[in-house]
Amino acid sequence: MTMNKKTESLELFVSRCRENNLKLTPQRTAIYKELISAIDHPSTDIIHKRVIEKFPHISLDTVNRTVLAFADLGIIKVVEGYGKPKRFDPDIENHHHFHCVKCNRIIDFKNDEYDELNIPSSIFNKYIVFGKKVVLEGICDRCRKKK
Ligand SMILES: [Zn+2]
Ligand SMILES: [Zn+2]
Repeated sequence: MTMNKKTESLELFVSRCRENNLKLTPQRTAIYKELISAIDHPSTDIIHKRVIEKFPHISLDTVNRTVLAFADLGIIKVVEGYGKPKRFDPDIENHHHFHCVKCNRIIDFKNDEYDELNIPSSIFNKYIVFGKKVVLEGICDRCRKKK
């Protein structure tokens, strides 16, 4: 995330927490900051390992509950379709994912054509669509190099 986007995200975080009476504790702020600094769509285990460096007493359970509360508030997203453990995405704007099936990296990318994809009428007539995301699966550059 760029500096500007991080600042915007932090502002959204603060206002959403206030609107929903979620207290802005230093731990919650640290967890959120860790999320927006991450580019790897981390699971809560990973977030816990990172946050514990600043808050040695924070439990995995607290991190789990906090991250799920953030997802409920809509300030982060759960990355769908990767099974367990759940992975989280701090970027709530439209973007697409490349998923490496070997190392499980999830890499963000933007593509205007994908953003414009038409929704099939079988879906469009029946459901309300809030978003669309293209997920490409394959082998990433790093894994391609190690053979
Ligand atoms: Zn890979
Ligand atoms: Zn993403």
